[in-house]
Amino acid sequence: MVPRVALLLIILLATPSHASDYAPIGKALSIAQVPGKPIYYSIGNTGVPNQANEGNTSNGGFVVTDDGVVVYDALGTPSLGWALLQQIRKVTDKPVRYVVVSHYHADHIYGLQAFKDHTGAVVVAQERAAEYRENDETADERADARLRQRQGALFPWVDERTRIVPPDITFAERATLTLGGKRLVLLYAGPAHSASDMMMMIEPDGVLFAGDIVQNGRIPHMNSDDVDTGRWLSALKQVEELKPGFIIPGHGEPSSEAAKAIAFTAGYIADVRRVMQAAVDTWTDFDAAYRAADWSAYDKLPAFAANNRGNAYRVFLELEGANFGDGKKAEP
Ligand SMILES: [Zn+2]
Repeated sequence: MVPRVALLLIILLATPSHASDYAPIGKALSIAQVPGKPIYYSIGNTGVPNQANEGNTSNGGFVVTDDGVVVYDALGTPSLGWALLQQIRKVTDKPVRYVVVSHYHADHIYGLQAFKDHTGAVVVAQERAAEYRENDETADERADARLRQRQGALFPWVDERTRIVPPDITFAERATLTLGGKRLVLLYAGPAHSASDMMMMIEPDGVLFAGDIVQNGRIPHMNSDDVDTGRWLSALKQVEELKPGFIIPGHGEPSSEAAKAIAFTAGYIADVRRVMQAAVDTWTDFDAAYRAADWSAYDKLPAFAANNRGNAYRVFLELEGANFGDGKKAEP
């Protein structure tokens, strides 16, 4: 007979301790399925990451094929990544083969840790994701400073054990994963919202994970060195031409009316550019132009207070810079 203590030890060792690797989340993920397709997505809150939303502010999802699962984005904390993995396990026991990352920003990548530690998934990103690293002054979001900020703002879901998982495989313009009868086309769309923006088109389903290029019904964050609103608008044109039947944006509501979702982000960027271009053309200073502008189409939307003024200022600088010289932003 096995002694009691030994038996307990055996039980403890046999029980997966994985869940305890990460602080439990208080609010379950909001998971939905694309109608009639083996494609699922998690909808984040539309605000900025904080204690109330537990850092669950971005959308992510997964595609189930006969030969395994492909995940798009890992959400904003290891706890949320783990929760997404549990959702996958509810649908299928097939292995997670790839995690495709829309771009390297904290709200989309901290969950990678759970996939790296508990699946054999290969992490795929656009090659400029490699610029997201510690002490990098030129990156729009310094990786280590952002991690410290989130260790405070999102504790206990982000803590001293949280780490940044780099991509295993990168590509430049376009890559295709063929798996279990699906073609997953990865398309570089940056630098627009960030240096490494990438979208994933799922064929033959016609479903697009658009990343932060499209943010439906929410004011996007544009105030960073890597943002290029001119290229962002061309990236949105590219999305339009793909004619997706269903679109899952990086933030905000998914839609079967892709054109509408695209038009929202494009319209917002174009409006900010129009207002700031007028200011630059008439040598109006930023504060006066910002105050005089009519923001009533946007000021009730999520993340307006957090993002709009900074966005306008960034665009003002971008357009002012374009007036001098080569149209490039002043960068070190
Ligand atoms: Zn984001």
